[in-house]
Amino acid sequence: MRKPLIAGNWKLNLLQADAEALARQVKAACDTDAVEVIVCPTYTALAAVRQALEGSRIGLVAQDLYWEASGAFTGEVSAPMLVDAGCRYVIVGHSERRQHFGETDETVQRKAKAALAAGLTPILCVGEVLAQRDANQTVGVVGAQLEGAFGGWTGADAQRVVIAYEPVWAIGTGRNATPEQAQEVHAFIRQWLAKRFGAPVGEAVRIQYGGSVNAGNAASLLQQPDVDGALVGGASLKADAFATIVKAAVDAKAAMR
Ligand code: PEP
Repeated sequence: MRKPLIAGNWKLNLLQADAEALARQVKAACDTDAVEVIVCPTYTALAAVRQALEGSRIGLVAQDLYWEASGAFTGEVSAPMLVDAGCRYVIVGHSERRQHFGETDETVQRKAKAALAAGLTPILCVGEVLAQRDANQTVGVVGAQLEGAFGGWTGADAQRVVIAYEPVWAIGTGRNATPEQAQEVHAFIRQWLAKRFGAPVGEAVRIQYGGSVNAGNAASLLQQPDVDGALVGGASLKADAFATIVKAAVDAKAAMR
């Protein structure tokens, strides 16, 4: 059974003291073995949050990385540096990076490979924009993103990745996909992985849903058979809302047994 993964993406928010305070609240409310809980602060808050989370099972995650390990790349942060900072996972190809910072399927692939090589688990984000959904292109768009990201991969590497399906029209808009819409795309992603890398890889890879997940809608999304957790933005900045989402994942998992 896949262990659900609940991630809080804090984006470009919180100075160190605020990030540390939120991390302490999350540690008090969300430290469970039933599901995996991780938080993604900005680079500058990684050390403070790492310290705050010490002694808990909650994992530290970075929001991006660069694919070279070191060198003349001013402003960049590499996978070995993130490991050194205590990270277990790294988000790759978030739609905000694709939209504002020129991220492409090719850079996503390079970043994901660099993460794996350093021992980090990439959380690889895919998802369609509204015009593509309205034109019934969702599956084609997500399939092309997977094709671009996973070109030349082995099944052994693919199995180590987490995929986040995040319809772009649902991120930060308060408008989430229905559980049925999410399930449909998650099932497609799992089938794509099974076809490309074999059924065991399709079965093993965790696929998170992201897009305006909150305390009110988390349960119905997390009850879907192919939804293995959530990548949460806005609602992860409030410890009580995030704790409700974690609890919904614990309950959904218990109901599936
Ligand atoms: C995200 O940050 O990936 C996200 C889904 O944000 P929000 O939950 O705010 O839509």
